[in-house]
Amino acid sequence: MSNDFIINNLNKVNQTIRDSAIACGRDPKDITLIAVSKTKPVSLIQRAYDAGIRDFGENRVQELKEKMPALPGDIRWHMIGHLQRNKVKDVVGKVFLIHSVDSLELAREISRISVKKEVITHILLEVNPAGEINKTGIKSTDGIISLIKEVASLPALIIKGLMTVPPIEEREDVLQGYFKALKDLSLEVKAKNIENVHMEVLSMGMTGDYPIAIREGSTHVRVGTGIFGEREVY
Ligand SMILES: *Cc1c(COP(=O)(O)O)cnc(C)c1O
Repeated sequence: MSNDFIINNLNKVNQTIRDSAIACGRDPKDITLIAVSKTKPVSLIQRAYDAGIRDFGENRVQELKEKMPALPGDIRWHMIGHLQRNKVKDVVGKVFLIHSVDSLELAREISRISVKKEVITHILLEVNPAGEINKTGIKSTDGIISLIKEVASLPALIIKGLMTVPPIEEREDVLQGYFKALKDLSLEVKAKNIENVHMEVLSMGMTGDYPIAIREGSTHVRVGTGIFGEREVY
């Protein structure tokens, strides 16, 4: 055992990812671990980087802007939190993937800024398969296919897949149902062969539930507490 808790935690999480993948016949290499570093200092992020992690997730633009210049340039930053339209200019061209696109208006702004900056922005649509229980995300019943078509037709955007944050403290079978619903939706969308829609990424699973998400087809798990320890609530 190393005396660095980050390394120990990363070993545990990576082992759980491997075990969960193999248990359901998946290749562990098809699952990317995103270390969610929100509220955590640059020094801890650097330690996770030194241990081999290259994908980091943040949920606040201001925090992302402060941390990014203090850390290695080859980090793939994932914007996973709610994004306000007036902050889009601060992330476009800087982050690897925006997970939390939850409205046509937001997608339009990302498109507009991407065109202006002459970049292509990769996004996920945040879907809420739990319907009314969960506040964030596009409700999967709200004519989501036509919304996806509309977003995909915007210039300088590529839809790489779907993301979800299920309600907290749910029973395992209920959670599994949400993850399965997201996977089913991604297959349905994929079958429509919409231009600029790839459906390669299913961003689902956090510290409390990533083994379940992997069983249901997650390709990107977003783990914070399991790597960096508990956060001060804010
Ligand atoms: C904070 C956060 C996570 C990580 O949560 P943990 O339970 O600490 O693993 C994952 N996804 C999103 C969108 C988050 O905001």
